[in-house]
Amino acid sequence: MLYYSTNRRSPKVGFEEAVLQGLAPDNGLYFPVSIPKLSSSFFKTIEELNPDEIAFLVAKQYVGDEIPEDKLKQIVKETLNFPVPLVEVKKDIYSLELFHGPTLAFKDVGARFMARILRFFLEKESKPATILVATSGDTGGAVASGFYDVEGINVVILYPSGKISTTQEKQLTTWGKNIFALEIDGTFDDCQKLVKEAFADSELKAKYGLTSANSINIARLLPQSFYYFLAYQQIKEKSKPFIASVPSGNLGNLTAGLIAWQMGLPVNRFVVSSNSNDVITKYLHTGLFESKPSVLTVANAMDVGNPSNFARILEIFNHNYNRVKDKLKGYSFSDIEIRNCIAEVYQKTKYTLDPHGACAYMGLQKELKESETGIFLETAHPAKFRETVNESIGQSIAIPDSLNAIIVKKKVAIQSQPSLDSIKKILSTLLK
Ligand SMILES: *Cc1c(COP(=O)(O)O)cnc(C)c1O
Repeated sequence: MLYYSTNRRSPKVGFEEAVLQGLAPDNGLYFPVSIPKLSSSFFKTIEELNPDEIAFLVAKQYVGDEIPEDKLKQIVKETLNFPVPLVEVKKDIYSLELFHGPTLAFKDVGARFMARILRFFLEKESKPATILVATSGDTGGAVASGFYDVEGINVVILYPSGKISTTQEKQLTTWGKNIFALEIDGTFDDCQKLVKEAFADSELKAKYGLTSANSINIARLLPQSFYYFLAYQQIKEKSKPFIASVPSGNLGNLTAGLIAWQMGLPVNRFVVSSNSNDVITKYLHTGLFESKPSVLTVANAMDVGNPSNFARILEIFNHNYNRVKDKLKGYSFSDIEIRNCIAEVYQKTKYTLDPHGACAYMGLQKELKESETGIFLETAHPAKFRETVNESIGQSIAIPDSLNAIIVKKKVAIQSQPSLDSIKKILSTLLK
């Protein structure tokens, strides 16, 4: 498979190049030149396949022969070493639980796949590598977990001091071995700026083999389409049309769903469910895309004011707004609505939503017709956002053992000023 840049000023590249570069040289995002259709027999027999086989058949289309089949099978098996159950919440409404991975959020899927793909390519070239990544909370933990103890790869995570939750901080700072956390005296934007400056410094980049692991990398995006097929596999009444509601921030999850649809998955419509950061909602209602600074909400993993995967969505629809708005329906919800939804669903069904899943649930309710099955993506375990959840449902939810084990560990982070010089000094002592 070849990949082109959405800015169209860089040459097309193969899968390996697209993964190693992350962002194309013209700053565009890589996208496959065509989206292959899966056979109708695949969809007819999907219930007989196991999740690894489904994921392998999907991944194979995009990887081609750049990774041997045995190796790719092993990579998808290790990526999906946790269940992705479709749970009935009430009649015709199902939760696709994407939070059973090691950091209890769906970003585990993309991070675990990408870590293993990168390791394969880097081993082949026997290059040392350093993953440099900025996080506003959830990405860092998923990347750390995905790359932990992967030989030949060091991971340096920059996070804004005091601006992420205690749980999120522990998920970044308690690993040891090849994972290093830098606590930056600044904001998330400062962290992101530092990472960009580091990549622009060609000497620094070459010295440590700097590689990015952010959400725009094609190897983080593609595996997210696996679980849309796993959802379909678990739907009992396949003759009934279904719609999917996606809690959206950077729009990676939605883009992956659209890729699954283009591959033949029979999704009637997608609901793009957002918090008060409503750039995409406004676009879907007016056709105008205007980025703006993000605002803080209780569903903070979706606090994005300029969603980067929008460029890929336009590619999927050939830049045709009428086609976009036929397929995608957008809704935004305030913090109050999110809290009320968590409370109401808990009272009525005993199902505990997290704030992101609550947005998706509300979007689904607005859009679902009687003749349809509705699926919403539950992207994080409610215990990751337990302050909001506990306040909403009026009691304390149980914390999974895996999370408790991390919470009691000791934080180890290196403090740094938000300057490239300071980062350089730290790297030279860490990565001798
Ligand atoms: C990242 C994240 C989202 C948003 O996903 P995008 O792919 O950025 O749209 C939603 N929920 C949770 C819990 C997340 O961590």
